[in-house]
This record gives sequence, C-alpha cells and structure tokens, in this order.
Amino acid sequence: MTNSEGNNPLVEDEIVTAESVRTRVMLVDDQNIVAEALRRMLADEEDIDYHYVSDPSAAINEATNFKPTVILQDLVMPDIDGLMLLKFYKSNAETNTIPVIVLSTKEDPKIKSEAFGLGASDYLVKFPDKIEVIARIHAHSRSFMAQKQRDEAYLALRELQKELEAKNSELERLSSQDGLTGIANRRIFDEFIKKEWGRAARDENPLSLILIDIDHFKSYNDNYGHQGGDDCLRQVAQKLDGTVNRPSDLVARYGGEEFAVVMPGTDLEGAKSIAAALCEGISSMGLAHSHSSTADHVTISLGVASAIPTFDGAPEELIEKADEALYQAKKTGRNQYKVSE
Ligand code: GH3
Ligand code: MG
Ligand code: MG
Repeated sequence: MTNSEGNNPLVEDEIVTAESVRTRVMLVDDQNIVAEALRRMLADEEDIDYHYVSDPSAAINEATNFKPTVILQDLVMPDIDGLMLLKFYKSNAETNTIPVIVLSTKEDPKIKSEAFGLGASDYLVKFPDKIEVIARIHAHSRSFMAQKQRDEAYLALRELQKELEAKNSELERLSSQDGLTGIANRRIFDEFIKKEWGRAARDENPLSLILIDIDHFKSYNDNYGHQGGDDCLRQVAQKLDGTVNRPSDLVARYGGEEFAVVMPGTDLEGAKSIAAALCEGISSMGLAHSHSSTADHVTISLGVASAIPTFDGAPEELIEKADEALYQAKKTGRNQYKVSE
C-alpha cells in the first residue's frame, strides 16, 4: 500500500527506527561539575548522544532543537525550581512525552513523590552509579522510542484510512452514475424506488413514476451511427434531468434508450404535468431525426403511474402500471404521455 506521495509508509517507519536507535540524553543542571561527571560516564557509550544545558530557562528551547529521548533534570538551581521545569515539560507539546529523570541531591520521599506527581519518570540521587545511570537512561529512552513509533504508526494508519474513505466515496459516486449520460444508473433507481415506496407507505403519501422511451431510436442509430446515438442519449438525459427540478425527485437511466423519473410525494395530477413538460421539452430541442415516422425530430413517449403505496404492495406494481401506460402511448401515436388508470 502506498500513500498519496507514492511512498510506502512501512518503509518510512523502518527508516525512522534505524535513525532513532540512538539515545539522546539532555542534562539540565546549573553545575558544570555534574555535567562533566556525566559526560565521563557516558563517554564510552557509542549509541548515546549527550547534550548539556547549563541555563534552565533555555531548557524547553534546547529540548525542542536537540530532541532528546530522555532528559536528566536537576532539582535545585538558582533561578528556577526544577519541579517547575517538570511542569513546563509536561505542558509543552514538544516535550510532554519525553521521559524525565530527576537528578537530585535530596533523598526525601516527599520531594520524590512530588516529582513523580508532576510527571517525572524516574528519580536518582546524586551521584548514582555509572552502570545504573546508563541502564536507566537506556530503559527510559527505549520505552519513549517505542511509544513514539506506535504514535507515528497510528497516525500513518489514520492518514491511510482517510485516503481510503475518500477513494471509497469516489467509487460509490462512480458506481451510482450511468457511465454514458452521467445521471443516476439502474442500480440507484432500484434502490431509490424501493426506499421511497417504504417511506410513502409509512407516511401515506403518493408516489409517482414516469417511464420514458425514445421514439424510433433504432432508426436514429441506423441513420446517425452509434456515436450519434450516444450523443442523442446524453442530450436527452441532460434535458430530462434539467426539467425535473425537485430535489426529492430522481431521474435515472432505466435501460438502453429508456429513462425513469421517480417522484415521492407527487400525485397523479402533478406527475401528468411533469410528463407533459418532459414530452414538450424533448420535442422542442429539435434534435433532427429524419428517419422518424412520428416527427422530423427526436421525440419521446411516456407512461405515467401513481399510487399510495402499502406495506403489502411492492414498487414493481407501479413499474408495471407505468410500463403499460408507456405501451399505450407508443401504440396510439408516440410523442405523448399516457396515464395508467
Ligand atoms: P420505439 O419508438 O417503439 O421505442 O422504437 P425504438 O426503435 O426506439 O425501439 P427499439 O427497442 O426497437 O430500439 C431501441 C434501440 O436503442 C436499439 C438499440 O440499438 C438502441 N440503444 C440502446 N442502448 C443504446 C446505447 O447505449 N447507445 C446507443 N447509441 N444506442 C442504444
Ligand atoms: Mg425501448
Ligand atoms: Mg424506443
């Protein structure tokens, strides 16, 4: 799987891991002698980068730049209280997850308890044994890096999830659209009429349907070619879609040269007036059709049906009625709508 830049996030993660094997220690202490002692202790540790900050007021800034994996923090300093600094680390987004080992001269349970309460990860009394210092530095640094990697992996996953959701909704849109005309396809029609049938049954509202078929379309194809036929279908679809303008209505491609209009909450009278407008609308486009025996331009026939749906009934009844009406419109001259009685 790749993200939007085409990179593989898993490979990126491995790179992060390789870089961050290093342990980065930042000591904040006003006494140079402590800094020197620690420097000597860590000198042989090849995986440890050491950074000393003598001015505690610069600690947050230095941490932001140096990016330690563990902070060693003195408690008693001239200008600033080490416990106060602990609060700063924890309230700063750049430093709040970095483990802090308090380095204190005071072996006092109360202060220890306070330090842990403020978010310290560990507490060492100066001056601890070299082996112990290094072991604790490594342990805290490791758990920090592990947590960081989990957070990064989680974020990357969230990003991928978002991309996936966007692609899915694009797919959903594409799979609901008729590829040729851009209006709703048959699948959406089937789902829509079923859902609206149920809703109308619940609300005791009327539901109307118009089935539409282009007149003499076979000879249109024969005369103007399949490409010309496709163009005609596109234009007819756009006109139908533009004529029906209630947002609750659906215009769909029902089959080859057949279209359907579903109108929730519209009774037979309303459906008849829409059918008349559609019939007139297509005819008035004046799309030349020299091989039609009905007119010298493209026309449509329409079948109109309306029902007050019931729960024992099914939308197929409505479709059948509209289809019968369409058949009557064809049989009695085309370029007109007929109503199912
Ligand atoms: P009527 O007036 O009775 O409806 O006659 P008709 O010729 O329109 O009906 P018929 O069902 O005989 O022909 C429908 C034609 O529509 C045949 C088919 O080639 C054409 N058609 C169906 N789908 C498409 C399409 O996607 N593109 C094109 N160009 N033609 C199509
Ligand atoms: Mg047909
Ligand atoms: Mg036809």
